[in-house]
Parts: sequence; C-alpha cells; structure tokens
Amino acid sequence: MRAIRVREFGGPDVLRLEELPEPEPVDDEVLVRVQAAGVNPVDTYVRAGAYGKLPALPYTPGSDAAGVLQDGARVYVAGSLSGTYAEYALCRRDQVRPLPEYLSYAQGAALGVPYVTAHRALFQRAEARAGETVLVHGASGGVGLATVQFALAAGLAVVGTAGSDAGRELIAAQGAARVFDHRDPLHLQAAFATTGGRGFDLIVELLANLNLGDDLTALAPRGRVVVVGSRGPVELDPRDLMNAEGVVLGMLLANATTEDLAAAHAAIGAGLRDGWLRPVVSRELPLAEAARAHRHVMERPALGKIVLVP
Ligand code: NAP
Repeated sequence: MRAIRVREFGGPDVLRLEELPEPEPVDDEVLVRVQAAGVNPVDTYVRAGAYGKLPALPYTPGSDAAGVLQDGARVYVAGSLSGTYAEYALCRRDQVRPLPEYLSYAQGAALGVPYVTAHRALFQRAEARAGETVLVHGASGGVGLATVQFALAAGLAVVGTAGSDAGRELIAAQGAARVFDHRDPLHLQAAFATTGGRGFDLIVELLANLNLGDDLTALAPRGRVVVVGSRGPVELDPRDLMNAEGVVLGMLLANATTEDLAAAHAAIGAGLRDGWLRPVVSRELPLAEAARAHRHVMERPALGKIVLVP
C-alpha cells in the first residue's frame, strides 16, 4: 500500500510517499481502507520533533480518518495503531465508530481530534451550561468550528473570531451571534461590548500565547478560560483574574481517560444522529501532497479542516 513515512524529524519535506506492506489485523484489531485522513496541527509538531511524546522512527503520521472496514461498514477513525496518512490504517476496534451516510468521508476525517477536543474543553473541563455566553477565540479552524457547533447545540450563545473575511462568514453561517477579527488589536473590546459589559462566562482559547492576558479582562464574574491552543509564553496581570474571580483551565487531549473519550464520542454520536454536527472541510489534497497540507495547516487562514485523500 502507499503510505506517508517520516524517517527523520524535520520540515514538511520529510513527509515522503512510500510503498509498505498492508498491515494485518490480529485479535481485536480492524483494518480500515482509508478514504480520507484528517490533518491536525499536532501532526506538524510531531513531524518537526517538537512535541512531548514522539513516535519511534520511521513512522506514518495521522490519527484521524474515515473509511471502510473489511465488512463494508463506513467508519470514522479516532486514533490508529499504524497511522492514517496511508491507504490502510490498523486500528483497535474501539478507535473506529459508525459514520452516517449523510457525511462524506472527508467530513468523517474531520471528527476525531477536533470534536473530542471541543467536547472536552467545553463540557469536561469548563462545565459549560445552557444560557451561558462563550467566546470561541479562533473559531474558524477544526477545533473552533466543532466548539461552535457543540456550544450552540447545548444552548449557549456563541461569539466567535477569525482572521479572514471568509472565516468570519463561515462562523456566522454556523450560527455565531457575533463575529470579530482577531487580527484587529481592538477586537476583544468590541466583543466584550456585545455582552453589555458583563463579560464572557466562558472563553475557549485557541492561541493563548497571544490572547490569554487580554482574555482575563473580558471575563464575566467567575468566568472560565479554557486553554486549548498555545504556541509560546504569555504575559498576564493576575489582578484581572482576581477582579473576575476567574479560572484558567488547561486542556490536553492526551490526558483524556477511556471514560472521557467514551463520553465525547457518545456526544459526537448524538450530534451525528440528530444532524446538528456538520464538520466543515476546507480542502482535500492527494496523499502524496502531505507536505503541502502541513504547510497549509500552519500558514493559511483556516476555513475548517484539511484532509488527505489516498
Ligand atoms: P486550525 O484548524 O489550523 O485552526 C487554527 C485556528 O487558530 C484558526 O481558527 C485560526 O484563525 C486561529 N487563530 C489564528 N490566529 C489567532 C489569534 N490571533 N487569536 C485566536 N485564534 C487565532 O487548528 P485546530 O485544529 O483548530 O487547532 C487549533 C489549536 O488548538 C492548535 O494550536 C492546536 O495545536 C491546538 N489543539 C490543542 C489540543 C489539546 O489537546 N489541547 C487539541 C487539538 C488542537 P484564522 O486562521 O481565521 O486566523
């Protein structure tokens, strides 16, 4: 089978297409014929060797996908034993779940990391409740859009930010009440004003190294910030946190227990069944263009998910 291999950590060009033997499932493992593989920012950190836990070399990247089991069942993949940037992915049976007919394989490949992360941030860490107002600070990407959809379905009012016009249009079309440009230095003041000066009950933060200090000034009394994404250190004034009696919560998907993952996938399953969960795919690239996909995910304005098609 054709698969992307990484033989040394480094820039996007270390992602090379190779011919590998098809994996053979044993015991409770299943083989998925991959129709689309999701590209997540974490795949680029691992490829660069800049992540806490690194795989042994060589390896095939990717943990998200959608495809077909040997019995013909359509599934989405959240986690894989062999990597998903390939024609076939070996998975434990509990890493694959049914994919409804109304979703494309590309949409199915957008489910795993983004939707489990969004669920964990909103409900497992921040205990979001109906009637609250949430700022999704970076709402145009895979995790941000999943957060918008989960929050709306749970009865929260959503304010979102994006760095491009197309991104803001996309968030508004999803149902965000107000949208702002996070490249505008005054955007947080404008967003805060939409809460009538009360502030946000909840902020889901996708780029904390740029925003966390300002987020603390935009919290409602006892508001919470969940840090989902951060790419460096940040300066903040603890007095802002004291004023709101606010809480800053960290969130890392790798810390989710088996029970946490089961709860997140049950919620995803409910959203798929009821039809309000609609992953947005920005771009489908051939598997051989994995390097290009890694450049895009880090450099281009986000409009949902980039997927690779074997
Ligand atoms: P993505 O699809 O590439 O989206 C990136 C998002 O960040 C886009 O919405 C982008 O908006 C936004 N952004 C850019 N500049 C920003 C700014 N100044 N303020 C706020 N947001 C800004 O990536 P993703 O999959 O959604 O992941 C987002 C982040 O979460 C990444 O850093 C990723 O590593 C992290 N993450 C963490 C976990 C965890 O376990 N903690 C799990 C999954 C992801 P524009 O492109 O419109 O400017």
